[in-house]
Amino acid sequence: MIQKVISPKTDKLTAVKGMNDVLPPQSAMVEWLESKVRKLMARYAYRNIRTPIVERTPLFVRGLGEVTDIVEKEMYSFEDRLNGDPLTLRPEATAGVVRAALEHTLLYDGGKRLYYIGPMFRHERPQKGRYRQFDQIGAEALGFAGAEIDAEMILMAAALWQEIGLHDVRLELNSLGQPAERLQHRKALIAHFEEHASVLDEDAQRRLYSNPLRILDSKNPKLQAVIESAPKLLDFLGAASLAHFDTLKLILDANGIAYIINPRLVRGMDYYNLTVFEFTTDRLGSQGTVCAGGRYDYLFEQLGGKPAPAVGWALGVDRVLELVKASAMPEFSPKLDAYAIVTEVAALPIVLQTLQALRLAGVSVQMHSSTADGMGSMKSQFKRADTSGARYALIFGSDEISAQQVTIKPLRTTHAVQHVQSLADVADWAITLQSDA
Ligand code: ATP
Ligand code: MG
Repeated sequence: MIQKVISPKTDKLTAVKGMNDVLPPQSAMVEWLESKVRKLMARYAYRNIRTPIVERTPLFVRGLGEVTDIVEKEMYSFEDRLNGDPLTLRPEATAGVVRAALEHTLLYDGGKRLYYIGPMFRHERPQKGRYRQFDQIGAEALGFAGAEIDAEMILMAAALWQEIGLHDVRLELNSLGQPAERLQHRKALIAHFEEHASVLDEDAQRRLYSNPLRILDSKNPKLQAVIESAPKLLDFLGAASLAHFDTLKLILDANGIAYIINPRLVRGMDYYNLTVFEFTTDRLGSQGTVCAGGRYDYLFEQLGGKPAPAVGWALGVDRVLELVKASAMPEFSPKLDAYAIVTEVAALPIVLQTLQALRLAGVSVQMHSSTADGMGSMKSQFKRADTSGARYALIFGSDEISAQQVTIKPLRTTHAVQHVQSLADVADWAITLQSDA
């Protein structure tokens, strides 16, 4: 293990490469998206699940598959300092959700619809749309076998694009069939790649016999021709798998959801079977996958539990927001109702008491506060009030305080007029404010 010595005085305390701070006002965008998602999930009857960020490493090795990019080279793994347990910062959340479902026998009384929002960790080369800590929003429907749930998942994502004003994400669909079908395809695939062994890169050669399906997911441009001509898994599917796929397509057609069948579409984890899908865009270069998912009917067993069918997707918050930013910009930042201008230090107790009453009545108020130079002039406070975007200035001057009043001055409209309000019934103003909001 490599140990770097930190000299506390000279080393700059910067964030870890690929792990970003989200500052206001950008953080308001994240909150905006999250609030859209929470409302949407509620309408589809999905409930929030919160699993730990740290899990035991074998969960991911067994769940995602040993010969996957994530397990081979992207996991942040370490040993628990106290007992040596191998632990990993979650690179994705599906494995953790299934672990939790098993651990708490969540499916004892039927299927469960769940969603999560939170950070994931992968040691990737940082670039736009690809980070080492990134937020995902994901949905998982556990215990349901039919293609109608695959459709519900896709419709839910499509509804989200509509809600947030994204109109140019494409849906790509494929079916990975069942393990027995994949085995037949695998033989044909190995034969095909053996024939073209000379063009395979190092990764592909290593995976030729361990996990040849993964070669299809290679992003190496030199491999695209040999991937293009490889035998298609769809041609190996039996009647039941095809029927599942057909039902899904029928439901999507009935809902006017356009899709492209992409027979090369495989996903980065080994747990998928039958339906897999990706929502993609051309606007993010090679980081074009915005949301991805599929069915994983064997993961429960693989993690040592009673078999249960399941399907889910995850979307990358950064990539989605990147697209939103480039589209019509909605109003993200919460609007401020009022800015409190305070000239008398002696009045602070009554000012804070008044503001507390207003906030409890639902009014958002930013209070002018002193800096090392003091409170500042009335004029400079008004400037602050103006740039704050608040609709009203609440003026707590000496005249007002001695009369037990506050002057309420509209900052944005010409038709509203300035008035004084007695401090005792300042909460009444909150009611008029709500009615003209
Ligand atoms: P890609 O093919 O772009 O590497 P993936 O197959 O690894 O994506 P998943 O693991 O299925 O992606 O994750 C779902 C979504 O999470 C992706 O579509 C993407 O939007 C987002 N995502 C994945 N990895 C990153 C990352 N390193 N940084 C930011 N977002 C990511
Ligand atoms: Mg990846």
